[in-house]
Amino acid sequence: VTSEDEIGDLARSMNRMAATLAHVEAERDELDKVRQDFIANVSHELRTPLTTMQGFLEALQDGLVQDGASRHKYYDVMYKETLHMSRLVDDLLELVRLTKHEFNLVKQPVNMEALLNRLAFTFTAEAEKRGLALRLALDLPLPAVLGDAGRIEQIFVNLLGNALKFTEHGYIELAAREEKGGVEVTVTDTGIGIAEADLAHVWDRFFKVDRVRSRSETGTGLGLAIVQELVGLHEGVITVQSKLGEGTVFTVWLPGNEEQT
Ligand code: ADP
Repeated sequence: VTSEDEIGDLARSMNRMAATLAHVEAERDELDKVRQDFIANVSHELRTPLTTMQGFLEALQDGLVQDGASRHKYYDVMYKETLHMSRLVDDLLELVRLTKHEFNLVKQPVNMEALLNRLAFTFTAEAEKRGLALRLALDLPLPAVLGDAGRIEQIFVNLLGNALKFTEHGYIELAAREEKGGVEVTVTDTGIGIAEADLAHVWDRFFKVDRVRSRSETGTGLGLAIVQELVGLHEGVITVQSKLGEGTVFTVWLPGNEEQT
């Protein structure tokens, strides 16, 4: 015997199931859209250098570029385009690996003082080449961070690389201090800055404020997406503040090694 109450219950759970299904379908469509956008972006990013190379190769093949100097320029552009494509593929593979959680972070206590000193040393030469000063401001002592040293280094290599890339005058500062049992690191530059409307998008895959300029600088638009994944895998926090024409500050907080504290 099926009572009206039971039918009512059944109807309600069918409704719930239908609602859940609609929700899952909406999510699936959304996922498909993300995937489609991703594929479209990758194709576009690879298509552009390929088109350039194809055109240049055809011109060379057809004997349209006779003098040595022009030929040299053509080869140079083609070489740079292949470098750009390699970087793009490397970054893509890295990002996919990170988001699929296919690899394990080897988390150990990381001495941040040593790591940041090493980075400052590496980047000083590059900064000086561009007439920029690299300042290091460590508020010592810093607690050890629990993380994968190589991956943490990668976070700051990307941030410092961007700071250099987008700064023409002034300085880059790498600073760190203890914060909430962990370490807060800031990478500050006096560069071109990021408009408020663009700020939320800097983490998006393939996002570049100025595509032409960044392309000549061989940017892939994937660096900050990778940084964000890496900070997340460390259960850290990353934020950005910027003012157009004045400069940018990226702040990364990484949790301390609790066993130590
Ligand atoms: P890219 O390979 O282009 O550097 P990123 O993901 O690292 O890719 O950065 C995305 C975009 O965010 C950059 O193309 C640039 O427009 C902007 N951006 C990132 N860092 C800075 C910075 N320090 N100053 C100004 N703009 C920046």
